[in-house]
Amino acid sequence: MSSSFIDLINHTKGKNPNQPEFIQAVTEVVEDLIPYMNEKHPTWSELKIIERIIEPERVISFRVTWLDDNNHVQINRGYRIQMNSALGPYKGGLRFHPTVNLSILKFLAFEQVFKNSLTGIPLGGAKGGSDFDPKGKSDMEIMRFCQSFMNELYRHIGAETDIPAGDIGVGEREIGYLFGQYKRLQNQFTGVLTGKGKFWGGSYIRPEATGYGLLYFVQCMFESLNESLVGKIVTISGAGNVAYYAAEKAIQLGAKVVTFSNSTGTLYDPDGFTPEKLHFLSTLGRDLNGYISKYSNAEFHQDSKPWCFKCDIALPCATENELNEADAQNLIDNGCICVAEGANMPSTREAIQIFHKSKIYFAPGKAANAGGVAVSGLEMSQNWIGQQWSPDKVDNRLKVIMENIHKTCLKYGKESCGYVNYLKGANIGGFIKVAVAMKAQGLV
Ligand code: GLU
Repeated sequence: MSSSFIDLINHTKGKNPNQPEFIQAVTEVVEDLIPYMNEKHPTWSELKIIERIIEPERVISFRVTWLDDNNHVQINRGYRIQMNSALGPYKGGLRFHPTVNLSILKFLAFEQVFKNSLTGIPLGGAKGGSDFDPKGKSDMEIMRFCQSFMNELYRHIGAETDIPAGDIGVGEREIGYLFGQYKRLQNQFTGVLTGKGKFWGGSYIRPEATGYGLLYFVQCMFESLNESLVGKIVTISGAGNVAYYAAEKAIQLGAKVVTFSNSTGTLYDPDGFTPEKLHFLSTLGRDLNGYISKYSNAEFHQDSKPWCFKCDIALPCATENELNEADAQNLIDNGCICVAEGANMPSTREAIQIFHKSKIYFAPGKAANAGGVAVSGLEMSQNWIGQQWSPDKVDNRLKVIMENIHKTCLKYGKESCGYVNYLKGANIGGFIKVAVAMKAQGLV
């Protein structure tokens, strides 16, 4: 019995109405998995491995009530999607952003299953968060929100059950408040969250890990083409943690980074950012325009994206679906040869089709941005053994993990003409282990 792609997608659409991002993520994965499975593992089809992998093991939705600074009652919705635990305890970030809904979190949790599998660390996949908007909130409001959020979440997570971390809107400060409340409720100091501060159970290099890992992956892509990053022009979107450390590592590796962006527009510095310029930028917060006051060669392009500037390498590091068909065509027309995703699903399906048709190298987030969760896995290891490893040790391990993910992508994604379909490689490479584990663990 073989599975049909069209039937599966129609079935998924019927069961998950109004979840376009989730359907998009599922479509991008199963169109590679079904032909592979029908050819190599027909018994997985009988066991309905794919049908099961797209159904979350558990979806938790809860009310989060908190008091703002004016003593007004505020209500948000909290979620945790425990997607798949075949390979290990649930693992994945928490996102606090007004756009958070079931569709967004289910797509992120689904991607996380494959990403975590690719790291080679025994981790299941999950995601969670809230439609709470941290923008403009005071420190005390953030704390009260995090405490209220944890008052419900604590009963569903644990160091051996589900280990949340950060994502958009959740950084070390929020992890601190969440951790403090968990510790108080459970009377346990355990590795229940990752992304902790370096003095209280966190790992060195965790803040840098997603951005550094992205560049280690891009370095592998270029080495496999017998090319180097020296002198390459890089456009980056976003201005958060991932974008910042991706730029730092790209500069260290000899590339020239020329853009950052946020929802107000794109900052373009034709001379390239330097470590000093990056430092200045980090003091500006959301005001990218403020950079021009010091570096007058730079330009701020209001409401524009970085994809209209000439580059060799594009690194979307902001958010989902930020790079569409027209942007993809622009990049190709301007000579871009490599796109690697620091964010989760920043390229639309149509954009990816253009990259593949033009045979430019495209690395999907589940492979290229796996460095963040990989170092979260290393943070868990350090918590288990009660030790803290040196920054060098963590960084070296991160590098090896990214090299291994790259090898997996080559193994399953290299075509007979020599072109590497990294998306296919990551989808199949991530899937195999999960499928084998699901088969072994029976119908649960
Ligand atoms: N939110 C990050 C991701 O998208 C990190 C998750 C984690 O460290 O658990 O992979």
